[in-house]
Amino acid sequence: MKIAKFGGSSLANAYQIKKVCDIILSDPDRRIIVVSAPGKRSSDDIKVTDLLIALAKARLAGNDYKNEYSAVIARYKEITDDLSIPSVLPDIEKAISDTAAAPYDDDVKYLDSVKAMGEDCCARLVAEYLTSIGHPAVYCNPGKCGLYLDHDAMGKAVILGESYDNLEELAHEKRLCIFPGFYGYNKKGEIITFSRGGSDITGSILAGAVNADIYENWTDVDNVYAVNPSLVKNPFPITEITYDEMRELAYAGFSVLHEEALYPVYMRSIPVHIRNTNNPEATGTKIVSKRTHYDSLITGIAGEKGFLTITVDKYLMNHQVGFLMNLLKIFTEEGISIEHMPSGIDSVTIIARKKYFTDEKKEIIKNRIKNELKVDSVHIEEDLAIVMLVGEAMANSVGIMARAASALSSAGINLKIVNQGASEISMMFGVAEEYCNYAVRVLYKELFRY
Ligand code: ASP
Repeated sequence: MKIAKFGGSSLANAYQIKKVCDIILSDPDRRIIVVSAPGKRSSDDIKVTDLLIALAKARLAGNDYKNEYSAVIARYKEITDDLSIPSVLPDIEKAISDTAAAPYDDDVKYLDSVKAMGEDCCARLVAEYLTSIGHPAVYCNPGKCGLYLDHDAMGKAVILGESYDNLEELAHEKRLCIFPGFYGYNKKGEIITFSRGGSDITGSILAGAVNADIYENWTDVDNVYAVNPSLVKNPFPITEITYDEMRELAYAGFSVLHEEALYPVYMRSIPVHIRNTNNPEATGTKIVSKRTHYDSLITGIAGEKGFLTITVDKYLMNHQVGFLMNLLKIFTEEGISIEHMPSGIDSVTIIARKKYFTDEKKEIIKNRIKNELKVDSVHIEEDLAIVMLVGEAMANSVGIMARAASALSSAGINLKIVNQGASEISMMFGVAEEYCNYAVRVLYKELFRY
């Protein structure tokens, strides 16, 4: 069995939806389909999810939301007209207007319930269209199917374990199952959405629940590329990559799948196949637990700005038992997640993402480190980008670090931090933010244009 998830650009209008349905029907193993909300029809268009957010915000601000409502309905009307399924439009209008007008006592929950209508109504219309052309399909409501979510301590939507057993039932449905992505329900019957792009997570959960042979993630590119195509012309296509490599690249800003989407399939070793709705013949990119081949020594290179470093110096730091533990405790208590922690004998640097810090938070942390740990100095630098060089094949080859470091130094890029984990799956270079993209290009030129 294959789970196929289609992203917003694949469902942006009737023409795209017909392509999606051709893909679904071309393989009888594609039985459970996850859909996003209709996305942009052109670069200056607005996604249905964003139209819904505007609607919800208008209501929350106490304003009239007629125009926002009409903009959403116009998108669905265009699609249902072009697919000749006008009979589904009243259901869509009712779902959206009832949700938009419902009483609420919590702004976040209200926003979630309205946002989710993009996927919900898209699933209704795809099911209706498939049925209308002679292929019985059923709209699957995540609540009725038992996709239960909750919020973790950070407010993030997380799945409740029992959902997997509930969703497994879908494997026995004879008709095609069209499942809206992006949301589920809590035990009180209220809608909870994942973060943006979260339909990828729904697809992965369903693949895990029915123990699918493969999770197909249909988007609008032929492949994942070894480097961001906006930085390098015709970059090397990746045909196969492991979950671990993907995770390392995603960490440095490689946005292929939603960051949390790999976990359910990773746990069950279900391969993910990224494919192009506009070019189903293309080989795509497979994300697997074990590689069958290596097309290149390096799998991918990614760079991301937005990090800061907090460097702490203390003479004879290595003699003091519990120093690092006490340092980390300060970050834990201040609710700051730490990314890396390279250390010397008498110094340690904490690398974290800038977005977690306000000016006030920086001061609090600095003062706590000074006062509680009696250090010689602590200073914060706010100009760090992280560039990751990722590839499992590196473990069996000699000299990559030397080549990378020498290429960067010949290009005049100062390396602030260098880190290579013992697994040798990746190397991390910390550079000034202004050099981030340049460093990616330099490394690509050195390591891909052999
Ligand atoms: N429609 C949602 C978004 O735009 C979720 C998704 O497409 O995966 O973020």
